[in-house]
Formats: sequence, structure tokens, C-alpha cells
Amino acid sequence: MSFLSATLDRVQPSATIAVTNKARELKAAGRDVIGLGAGEPDFDTPENIKNAAKVAIDAGKTKYTAADGIPELKEAICAKFKRDNGLNYTPAQISVGTGGKQILYNALMATLNEGDEVVIPAPYWVSYPDMVKLAGGMPVTIEAGVDQGFKITPDQLEASITDKTKWFIFNSPSNPTGAGYTADEVKGLTDVLMKYPHVWVMTDDMYEHLTYDNYVFATPAQIEPGILDRTLTCNGVSKAYAMTGWRIGYAGGPEKLISAMRKIQSQSTSNPCSISQWAAVEALNGTQEFIAENNRTFARRRDLVLSMLRKIDGISVPTPEGAFYVYPSIAGLIGKTSAGGTRLDSDSTFATALLEEKGVAVVFGEAFGLSPAFRISYATSDEALTEACTRIQDFCATLT
Ligand code: PLP
Repeated sequence: MSFLSATLDRVQPSATIAVTNKARELKAAGRDVIGLGAGEPDFDTPENIKNAAKVAIDAGKTKYTAADGIPELKEAICAKFKRDNGLNYTPAQISVGTGGKQILYNALMATLNEGDEVVIPAPYWVSYPDMVKLAGGMPVTIEAGVDQGFKITPDQLEASITDKTKWFIFNSPSNPTGAGYTADEVKGLTDVLMKYPHVWVMTDDMYEHLTYDNYVFATPAQIEPGILDRTLTCNGVSKAYAMTGWRIGYAGGPEKLISAMRKIQSQSTSNPCSISQWAAVEALNGTQEFIAENNRTFARRRDLVLSMLRKIDGISVPTPEGAFYVYPSIAGLIGKTSAGGTRLDSDSTFATALLEEKGVAVVFGEAFGLSPAFRISYATSDEALTEACTRIQDFCATLT
């Protein structure tokens, strides 16, 4: 009898966490490494949010809370959904979890049965397919390459739906590409979904506030109210409020789904951290001004990275509308050999050789389901980005 669960055979460890750890290890060993793997803002959590947490500690808000969130936070989330998305949720339709990740996981655990299919556009956030598999479902991916701006078409969505489809997972702006669907593009997808009432929509709006130029964010249930009663609108404070370590994510959805998610959470992590919940109340209710300021910094860094990468022959990269990632396609580099003698037969050998020969850590595209490409997170300083992109240019210039 095997000690370890067979479930483990179905999943991979997170590639982004693996790259971040590898870069950390090399740095600790004295190597000059620039890590572009981590998906978190380099800004500190704003002072007003940190203060709210300190006040919560001093006021003794340090005990268990209701399993899926304190009433004050649920109210703040309802107000946020109304203010930003025109969605009317009641507190009973809100779930708060330990990060956006737990929210998505709870929803999949609460709904998937053996053989249920989950449609996921690729490139995708690394965790979607593995979470689906952990919950016993089957991921069905739709590929959207660089030629279509990394966005799926309504026809592709329709062709992927079967009688077994339970969820469609939607993520815009996207991790790893930064691609953001316009309201019209979202409408094209929701028109298809209106024809298939058995398909539920899990929209992961984690990068809602991180948008650039004239892009306007749109979430599916706002564009098509006809799908509201089968949509789970997921979000969190991790990225927009620089609160990755606080671990607060949330969702709005039909009560029967929210209470099923509560049941899963109550038997796993009980409740999200009480202090972080009070901090999240301040994040959502307090000033939002720093978001625009942070976005100006992100947009500048995005443009810096794009301009440097676009000088490289063999790399093509569209301009992302949001998030803090770029996803360059390296189709033109496959088959070449690095100065260190590595034949670049895949994006994972590209990323490994780049790390070993130039000390730049990026995540290879295979982890996101669309190759050959790699992901750069530009949530780091201009100096580090300039140096990293110079090294990538050097690495590519010496390929033969
Ligand atoms: N969804 C997407 C698309 C993400 O990129 C991430 C984090 O990288 C998450 C969800 C999870 O966020 P959290 O840190 O709140 O669990």
C-alpha cells in the first residue's frame, strides 16, 4: 500500500514558485541572479492598511472569525462589487478565503465530480489545471497564441463545450500574458455562454485594477447579467493593494455555491486570518489613490521591457493591457545553440540556459500551457529590469 496519495500523481508543483525558489537559492549561494519569476508587486502595503491591522491587533480582533469572513469585510466587498463592477451581491453571496487561490480551490472542490470538464484558455495561470485535477475534474484547454493576442475567440469557446463542461475559467487581465479582453470581446464570449445554461463561469478578476493605457476592465456578469446566477466573480487584495502575504481573496456568487464553499473551508482552514480581514476592510473602503500611482510605475516598466525585448530577433511580444507580466514568444529562437553550448529545443531549456549562463530567472511557457515562450514579471525595479533585459539581449545575440 502506497503511503502517499495517488492524487499527487495527477498534479505538478507550481513552476512559478519553483523558479522563485531556485533564484533565491542561487542568490544565497553568492550568484548574481535577477529574479523575474515572482508574481507579486515590489511595493510595500500602504500605510493606512498596515495601520488598520495594528488597530485590529490592539483591539483584540485576534480570535477565530466566521468561516468565510467577518460581516464588515463582506459589506466592504459588496460595496466594492457595486462601485467597480455594477454587481449587486448581498453578504450571503460573498465568500472570503485565504487568498484568491483558496477561493478558486474551494469552488472547484465544492462542485467537481469525476469526469466533469473545466474549460481553461491557454496560456493560463499555472494553478488552474492542477487545482481542477486535485478536485477530480478534467481540464480542457483552448490555445490562444501570440497571433490572436493571447485571447480566445467565441468560436473556440463554443467548440470546447460538451455536455460534461461544468466551468469556464476566465482570467482578464491575464497571468501570464497581461492580455485584457475588451467589453465587446467579453460579450462575444458571454453570447456563447448564454446558449449553454449548464456551464458555470469562474471569472478570476485578480488583476482588475492593474490596467494601462486606455484599457477598460470588464467582468462577464457585468456585461451579461443573464449569467449572474451561474457566475462566481473572484477577486482579492493581493495584487492591487500589495498584500500578497496577508492572504485574503474573495468571491461573489449564488448562495448555494457560496454555502458549499463555506463547508469546504470550515473543514480545512477554518477562517482567513482575522487581522488580515480587518486590513482588507481598509483596503477596500479606504483611499484607492495609490493604485493609479502604482500603475504609472508598472506601465513605465512594461514599456521599458517591451522596448528592450523588441530589439531581439526571434522574439515577438504583444503589448499587454494589464497585470505585470509580459509573455514573449520565442518561436524564432528554438533550434539555436547558446554560447554555453545548450541546444534550445524548448522554452524550458531556454529558461534554464538563461539562468545558468546569464543569471536571469524567468518562467518557461510550458508551465502556462503555451510554448515556446517565457514569462517576465516586471514587478521589480527599473534598474533590475534594464540589467535583466540587457542580459537577455546578450544571451540571444550570441545564439548560433
Ligand atoms: N489568480 C491569478 C490569475 C493569479 O495570478 C494569482 C496569484 O499569482 C492568484 C489568482 C492567487 O492570488 P492570491 O495570492 O490572492 O492567492
